[in-house]
Amino acid sequence: MTTTEHEPAVEITGVTKVFNPGRPDRVTALTGVDLTVRRGEFVSLIGPSGCGKSTLLRLVADLIPVSEGTVRVAGKPARTARLDREYGIAFQQAGLFEWRTVQRNVELPLELRGTGRRERRVRAREMLELVGLADFAGHYPAQLSGGMQQRVAIARALAVHPPLLLMDEPFGALDEMTRERLQDELLRVCARTGTSTIFVTHSIPEAVYLSDRVVVMSARPGRITAEIDIELAQRNETTRQTAEFFAGITRVRQALRGGPAAQRPDEAGPVGEAEPADPAVSR
Ligand code: ADP
Ligand code: MG
Repeated sequence: MTTTEHEPAVEITGVTKVFNPGRPDRVTALTGVDLTVRRGEFVSLIGPSGCGKSTLLRLVADLIPVSEGTVRVAGKPARTARLDREYGIAFQQAGLFEWRTVQRNVELPLELRGTGRRERRVRAREMLELVGLADFAGHYPAQLSGGMQQRVAIARALAVHPPLLLMDEPFGALDEMTRERLQDELLRVCARTGTSTIFVTHSIPEAVYLSDRVVVMSARPGRITAEIDIELAQRNETTRQTAEFFAGITRVRQALRGGPAAQRPDEAGPVGEAEPADPAVSR
């Protein structure tokens, strides 16, 4: 893999996405999106339903083409990055194949890549150990809980050792306890593998807990309205009770409400609001 180490993990410049252009059902899903994700950084996308979070993720994954602008992953065009398997992807539904064992589900991307059988086995085992499911390698998805299935999906996404992980509300269907446990697991896995991550969620606490940076979006048309750096001294069982955690939540909430704090410095226009901008929100 010819990854250029000094390039950002993702570089999105001037991206617009229009679905069904030139038709009555034309939708401008995203407009003027600029976003850079650094190597090893964990970035969450948050915003109301329909603001283009999934669309943005699909553009980065090269599952759909941009209408305007550029997307680069690891310094390469998104398409090249996809062909080079620069990223792993996990969605809200685990999307496992029912007739394959857990082990063989995790092996699938390696199979598609033409990795030999022996190496596939070893790699899948490693990934299952990482997500704490080594004992379930021979089980079928239907024999696992929702949380376990989602961990298999994460193991599968990581199986090719992608430098970038793209996740679209992966914990959205899980109960709160399972969700918090998986958040910790995900952070541990990302730290251990040095993976950069773009994570879509509509949970404010989840975004704050996981992220180095929370990117706030708004709808009609979808665009980025704020980028909030999250500085937590550590992320563990006590973090969710700290003042800095609550401060992060407040900042994201304010930005979502579209207050002046939600404005990007480069977009600051003649807005008649008297409230001072939160300096922590500007970059
Ligand atoms: P989010 O993930 O933030 O809820 P999406 O990215 O799914 O939002 O959708 C953004 C907008 O683009 C919505 O208005 C949605 O209806 C529209 N959209 C998404 N995918 C398609 C598609 N394949 N064809 C037409 N419109 C689409
Ligand atoms: Mg979505």
